[in-house]
Amino acid sequence: MVPEAWKQFFKQQRQEREAQKLGRKLRSLRHMGSTRVQIGSHELINFSSNDYLGLAGDLRVAEAAASAAGRFGWGTGASRLVTGSSTLHNKLEGETAAFRGTEAALVFGSGYQANLGVISALAGPGDIVLSDALNHSSIVAGCKLSGATVRVFKHLDYDDLERKLAGNGRKLVVTDSLFSIQGDVAELPRIAKMCERHGALLVVDDAHANACIGKRGRGLPEEQNTLAQVAVVVATYSKALGSYGGFAACSDEIREHLINHSRPFIYTTAMPIALAAANLEALKILRREGDALRQQLAARVKLLRSRLEASEFKATGKYHIVGIPMASPEKALFYAEQIEQQGLLCYPMRWPSVPRGQDALRISVSAAHTEEEVSRLVAALKLARDRAAGKDTANLTQRSARRPTHQALDTAAPEAQPEFDEPDAELEPQMSAIDSSRLPNPGDLADFSPEPATSGDTIIMQPSSPNAPAAGDDADWPDFDDDESDEALPLDEPKPEAAEAKEAQATPEAAKAETPEPEKPEETKAKEASAADTILNADDAPVSESGKTLAPEPDEFADPVIANIEGGTRQRKRNKTRTRHKSRTRTIRKGD
Ligand code: PMP
Repeated sequence: MVPEAWKQFFKQQRQEREAQKLGRKLRSLRHMGSTRVQIGSHELINFSSNDYLGLAGDLRVAEAAASAAGRFGWGTGASRLVTGSSTLHNKLEGETAAFRGTEAALVFGSGYQANLGVISALAGPGDIVLSDALNHSSIVAGCKLSGATVRVFKHLDYDDLERKLAGNGRKLVVTDSLFSIQGDVAELPRIAKMCERHGALLVVDDAHANACIGKRGRGLPEEQNTLAQVAVVVATYSKALGSYGGFAACSDEIREHLINHSRPFIYTTAMPIALAAANLEALKILRREGDALRQQLAARVKLLRSRLEASEFKATGKYHIVGIPMASPEKALFYAEQIEQQGLLCYPMRWPSVPRGQDALRISVSAAHTEEEVSRLVAALKLARDRAAGKDTANLTQRSARRPTHQALDTAAPEAQPEFDEPDAELEPQMSAIDSSRLPNPGDLADFSPEPATSGDTIIMQPSSPNAPAAGDDADWPDFDDDESDEALPLDEPKPEAAEAKEAQATPEAAKAETPEPEKPEETKAKEASAADTILNADDAPVSESGKTLAPEPDEFADPVIANIEGGTRQRKRNKTRTRHKSRTRTIRKGD
């Protein structure tokens, strides 16, 4: 039951949101590979995703998860410190540390949890945390949870930071590296020098630069030559790595401290093993293809930025997050709506995702976007601008009754695109929840000194040590995914018996998974094989006429992507003698 006073409260809040054009609703989207989504019966080019390298739609990642889930099951059942930890978690941490060039890494449920967990474990009552005014909401939440005194410095204003660093006490400075809305970046060398002078610990949230920036994808710290000065990098598998989950990359001693003091690490169930396997696969792809993907991303960014400049759009930032400032939330919504009518998706950023008065259209570029898609976006922006200025009123009134399809747009030159009808109720901008989680007013946090947190909830246990490679910025990645090495890739094929037995002893879930399946009668095997073939040949999943329910039902294996994963997994089970490399090549071809 919801008491009347609460009902009134919810109603009043909703009315306020609606009056200010700040309401958000979840949309039902169907993901169609890396850069396309379907809403209703309309397919849209997605410029709103953080899938910067196009790995979210990569079947190798999905297949790694499917394969590991088939082997180890899905849930982990307990926190890492109880019985949730597995060899794959440790392996993921070792590979993550190798990728980021740190001694160690610790995996968290998400990037949000990682920020909460790192800041609140490192700083406490009596300490001082200095935080950029536009830091991500999860940093703000971590600051609050820490119980430390929080001093918010003006966005990218390092004179202000210097002033606020003055005085005694243990200090921690935390900043986003690549800011997620306007795409502007922190000056890490300058911050690092100040930290050194004041004995402050530097924590950098590299969520949006991770894997995309820097020679080896080690983010802004690598790009700005400050890898050694950053004590903790927080980042996520959920953006450029195309998967899900967060991590802290740091020294062994900080990792051990986090394991013992980080509540969002200690008191939560371990990441599913299949997810750890997917993250490992994403890291492996990155190792092999990262250079090419980063080059492709940089080329697309360059193209978009030069076209925007040529069309006299003011764009903020320098990398793959491109902000287009908007004069008001209404304007941001209008542009997003117009662009959507032209078959593209861009997110309008409004308060509280950005401070009031800093509304913007956020464009995120992916290596998976084509040049033609980039051109189409600029054409759509220009048309939206004309319409906003009332220059295109003739077209607005002579619109055709049909919404565009991508087929129609594909054949249309940007200047000769079809006209569209006005937004209908169904496609009224209903915003998804991406990045809507910033604190309403970051400035509210200035010198925030909450009550000291209660102690007594810290548990001390021996940390499990990661399989990390040699430390150091220049340490090359170890050869963790050599196709010849079973140790490197524990997911696909059977291992030598001795290794299997060792692993089974190491973790209960592994022991469960290693129990051999009883041999099936020939008839059952034949039925399974024919079912798998049917799945592989199935037609595209049906799209609902109403256009409302788009995501496939959980058991809808007619979905071609799922069918391919499912088919690939079954195929592998049937043919255990193939090499891992051949298996992957074959499965990917099926997905093409
Ligand atoms: N940090 C920043 C800067 C972010 O933008 C986000 C997500 N938008 C996060 C952390 C949280 O990461 P995750 O999505 O993995 O929870």
